[in-house]
Amino acid sequence: MLETTTRDIAALTGGELVGGATGDELVTGTARIDSREVGPGDLFAAFAGEHVDGHDYLDVARTAGAAASLVSEDRGVPAVRVDDVREALSVLARAQLERARSENPDLVVLAVTGSAGKTGTKDLLGTILSAAGETIAPVGSFNNELGLPLTVLRLAESTRYLVLEMGARGIGHIAQLTDIARPDVSLVLNVGSAHLGEFGSVDAIAQAKGELVEALAPTGRAILNAEDRLVAAMTERSQAPVVTWGFSTGDVRGADLALDEQARITLDLIVPEGLTTLAGDAIPAGRHGVHPDLLGEHQAANVLAALTGALVAGVAPAAAAAALEGATLASGQRMQVRRAGGALVIDDAYNANPDSMKQALKTLAHLGRTHRTIAVLGEMLELGPDSVRLHDEIGRLAVRLNISQLYVVGDGAAPIHHGASLEGSFGGESEYLDSVDEAIAVLERTVRPGDAVLLKSSRDAGLRRIADPLVEHL
Ligand code: ATP
Ligand code: MG
Repeated sequence: MLETTTRDIAALTGGELVGGATGDELVTGTARIDSREVGPGDLFAAFAGEHVDGHDYLDVARTAGAAASLVSEDRGVPAVRVDDVREALSVLARAQLERARSENPDLVVLAVTGSAGKTGTKDLLGTILSAAGETIAPVGSFNNELGLPLTVLRLAESTRYLVLEMGARGIGHIAQLTDIARPDVSLVLNVGSAHLGEFGSVDAIAQAKGELVEALAPTGRAILNAEDRLVAAMTERSQAPVVTWGFSTGDVRGADLALDEQARITLDLIVPEGLTTLAGDAIPAGRHGVHPDLLGEHQAANVLAALTGALVAGVAPAAAAAALEGATLASGQRMQVRRAGGALVIDDAYNANPDSMKQALKTLAHLGRTHRTIAVLGEMLELGPDSVRLHDEIGRLAVRLNISQLYVVGDGAAPIHHGASLEGSFGGESEYLDSVDEAIAVLERTVRPGDAVLLKSSRDAGLRRIADPLVEHL
């Protein structure tokens, strides 16, 4: 946080000084909601959760060096008392960002949204921008009405780039977030069917994601995926100039996209003449090789989006491409590759929606040139009334991609098996397995050296329990 007294915090949030706070307590650190993370000068925000009440940890936070706390109940510890701690954090975040902007006109705020790839793209932006100047890009998602203010409250006087992830589970959610932190550069990656259940339709998802573009001032920039129809159409909703990216169309181009034998991507970045940075400087045209340590074609889209955003923020193309050399994702490569017994296990059972499922299957299919491919798929949760159809389509896609062997695990995923069976003679075999334990047993029996195995499902479908025993067995 930029240095702030409890007096200022109380004034901004409409709170009162309690527990003996004088108003002169000086917050120099950041806002924390976990007392175990509190350090000297921090502001501890006490939340009353379902299981834990932060107010019970006010002393712990104080002992750890908290300058003050933000509370909704006076417990006799120096604090600012407000009615709603979360709302107060939002108000503080908005004020801090305004102040940071006026004190440092070079500060650039970039925000990323999309149905899939927000965290990955935010991480890549973090990597590129960190090489150019002091950058805040949180590890993990931090993309909601609590995570976002906490990220903004990490601002320091020396911060040059602030990278935010913005998620939406409904219309108006992103507008709420941009109300806290209006971006200078808005990146919209794609509009897919993640959280379709909550939204009701893909058009509603596009409506919601486009709020990120609507929040731009005319001096900002929208960075849009030229190859996603619903994203490209957001051009109409932008008061700011638009820079598009894509592989077959768009301003900034990716070319010669290839995957090495382990499905790691390489591509060329092509920057055309005539693009300018936010500050109005010309972006040098040219072609640069990009070699990150990332798996799967879908990451190439995220790489291109991040590069385009960074160029507009003022990073030179050669430096941006160089910064991604060997880059991995700070928040963890979701698609984790593990090698054992001559086989390749791609563990991606931490999150799944139809788009990421498709991308993961395509990545696996790519390995089909050199490996026997085995897809072990579980349920994609939160898809609403279209769930059966969306699972069915994944089964059909597996057939069309010539995956050698499909294992469908658990009741909720069964339509994948039906889809695969209906799509026609499945090149290899589609087999339905009742449980994760059964899947472990079958895989231990059948996986051989030279196989590539993909494990993919929503987190709560439990397929992440498979990787460890399987890798150990191999
Ligand atoms: P969340 O909404 O959970 O925060 P997110 O948008 O931040 O998700 P990531 O965490 O970056 O997305 O990636 C989620 C999953 O989507 C991973 O399995 C990843 O491999 C896959 N993925 C990443 N980028 C894309 C993309 N451009 N298209 C399709 N799938 C993608
Ligand atoms: Mg995320």
